[in-house]
Amino acid sequence: MNVTRDLFNEVMVPNYNPAAMIPVKGLGSRVWDQEGKEYIDFAGGIAVNALGHCHPELVAALTEQGNKLWHLSNVLTNEPALRLAKKLTDATFAERVYFANSGAEANEAALKLARRYALDVYGEHKQQIIAFKQGFHGRTFFTVTVGGQAAYSDGFGPKPGGIDHVDYNDLAALEALMSDNTCAVMMEPLQGEGGIISPSDEFAKGVKALCEKYHALLIYDEVQSGVGRTGELYAYMGLGIEPDILTTAKALGGGFPIGAMLTTARIAEHLKVGTHGSTYGGNPLACAVAERVLDVVNTPEVLNGVKHKEQIFRQGLEIINQKYACFTEVRGQGLLLGCALNEKYAGRSRDFLVAAADEQLMCLIAGANVIRFAPSLIIPDEDIKEGLARFERAVAKVVNA
Ligand SMILES: *Cc1c(COP(=O)(O)O)cnc(C)c1O
Repeated sequence: MNVTRDLFNEVMVPNYNPAAMIPVKGLGSRVWDQEGKEYIDFAGGIAVNALGHCHPELVAALTEQGNKLWHLSNVLTNEPALRLAKKLTDATFAERVYFANSGAEANEAALKLARRYALDVYGEHKQQIIAFKQGFHGRTFFTVTVGGQAAYSDGFGPKPGGIDHVDYNDLAALEALMSDNTCAVMMEPLQGEGGIISPSDEFAKGVKALCEKYHALLIYDEVQSGVGRTGELYAYMGLGIEPDILTTAKALGGGFPIGAMLTTARIAEHLKVGTHGSTYGGNPLACAVAERVLDVVNTPEVLNGVKHKEQIFRQGLEIINQKYACFTEVRGQGLLLGCALNEKYAGRSRDFLVAAADEQLMCLIAGANVIRFAPSLIIPDEDIKEGLARFERAVAKVVNA
């Protein structure tokens, strides 16, 4: 069969618009397309391939488990799921884990748990969920409605109710909305899709204090910021603030689909037998791979490496900006970085992405005004330098066009 990009339009639902080239192989931070053309990967499958492509330890974990046991359903438990849950609880504030298959599913579980907890403990009035504009929590109808971009949730009929949005980093606006009716506040401790926005220290602490004051659960969506991305295992650790519920996915499986919701024993209790579930969640294959990801990432070597590589990126991007004057700032944390375009290039992030692809560099955008990088946490320094050289050529093309 002749597999081309044209076939996409013939057989796929048109909700995506993928690039013209089709990758067929990856190794570390390099990817090759059907023609054998090589790319450097600064996108990391959207912050998923935390250990690059085909990391030997992950390939080993997958094949070992693949030769043993793939799937059981949740009528039975399994060793990889229990080991992974133990390691996640040992490494974090959490005492209980629920496994899902994606970020949206982990968030769906978090939101349902928060609603059930509030109902059980406080009563029906406590329903309000507050989240932030430009926030992103997934594409199920509940999570996309909690997300802060109405454009993504409009056009599908009546939405789940009881959800309000305020500006990120606007503590006064949050305070004005909160009351004893607030069930939960959901936030990304570093907004990813919304443009790589960090919370101010005051805001992060203030949100936590308001949640305590009104007995609302604080849900941290760490689907993008988690598993070493910021140079901490989870971003909450860097902020010094413990959420009540944390969701993790993307990098957790290093490319194998898995998501998880983490919480305390006291809250978890309310998701009683039969209240929620998933056929695949906690599947042995996914958990075996994720266990190995966690073993590799949660080491001083890898986590300190992220901070070191962040500096290489920042220095390289600053030099490019000194020459071409196109960014207002380079922001973000660890290996989740954003170049915010200045007025002259407003709305043109996609042009930079396309120019980068022409230079054999894969990167991402975060809205129309931010170029985003989310590479492997162990990307070799040489690949960063070569990738930045390609990025500079791409920037020159856009600027000089
Ligand atoms: C990607 C993302 C999600 C959705 O995860 P899926 O696996 O696509 O369902 C949720 N929250 C955040 C912060 C994300 O970046």
